[in-house]
Amino acid sequence: MTITLKISENTKEKMIEYFQDKKRVKTPPYAVFQADEADTVVTLYESGKVVFQGISADIDAALWKQMEQNLNPGKKVEETNSENKKENKKKDDYETQKLVAKLYDKRTIGSDEVGTGDYFGPIVVTASYVTKEDIPYLEELGVKDSKKMSDEKILEIVPKIIQKISYSSVVLNNHDYNERYDANMNMNKMKALLHNRVLYQELQKVKKEEKEVDAVIVDQFANPYVYYHYLKGLDHVVRKITFFTKAEDKFLSVACSSLISRYIFLKEFHKLEEQLQMKLPKGASQMVDETAKKIVEQYGFEKLKEVAKLNFKNTEKIKEQ
Ligand code: MG
Repeated sequence: MTITLKISENTKEKMIEYFQDKKRVKTPPYAVFQADEADTVVTLYESGKVVFQGISADIDAALWKQMEQNLNPGKKVEETNSENKKENKKKDDYETQKLVAKLYDKRTIGSDEVGTGDYFGPIVVTASYVTKEDIPYLEELGVKDSKKMSDEKILEIVPKIIQKISYSSVVLNNHDYNERYDANMNMNKMKALLHNRVLYQELQKVKKEEKEVDAVIVDQFANPYVYYHYLKGLDHVVRKITFFTKAEDKFLSVACSSLISRYIFLKEFHKLEEQLQMKLPKGASQMVDETAKKIVEQYGFEKLKEVAKLNFKNTEKIKEQ
């Protein structure tokens, strides 16, 4: 397997530092170094191209891709995989469909988060437990189309969902988010910690009631290897997770978690608007910058710590003005 990434200057520096002692004596033409990382041969070129070769190339490439994303938020990482992409994709699609069909009416706990792309407001993560018996009720409510649902509709149907199903949520408010965010933290690590927490809580709850769980499903936001890497050292790590991208379209437990998280987010967001006496935009657009500027003018910079995610690029833009 050969995977190629294009990385930025800052990631290049990290790589050079990291592979300092793992370098091979001989360096290929135009390369900064060639090194061995367990079963993977890593070659970094002056152009910023990195080539990972070997059976675990995907694991090492995923880790460095993550580093590139963390150091350069918002920048798309160019990646190529030498294996026959079309064939692989077809096979993957088929395997995924088979697995989805197999798990659809099983007893699952599924988790999903919201708020990670919004400058204002908290991060909310929820894990929900759904069984075969819940399916007709949830399908009737239209839970399957969770992505397309308007805020209004969410406010209407989530109270009905939570009457019937068991769930666990965590809200990380902006104050705590900003406290926790430091050099050793990044958004995906934050997500991994919060997903793990609600999954563990929900599993405990379900076990206490002596109910069975066939699968734990997470709406995938990181390579599974990287996900578990973030949880190293924790006392309670939920293992044997099945990761799916766009899992909220595939499983009702994840769809419920997506909706419940959005419901809680909307309520919290509204509280912030009341507190600030102004309408807040979602996302991280230029409109967000303008609103943040207004907040700083009216309440001072300190206030932003209570209502926004300060590590976003938006903060720099506000400081510049
Ligand atoms: Mg998600």
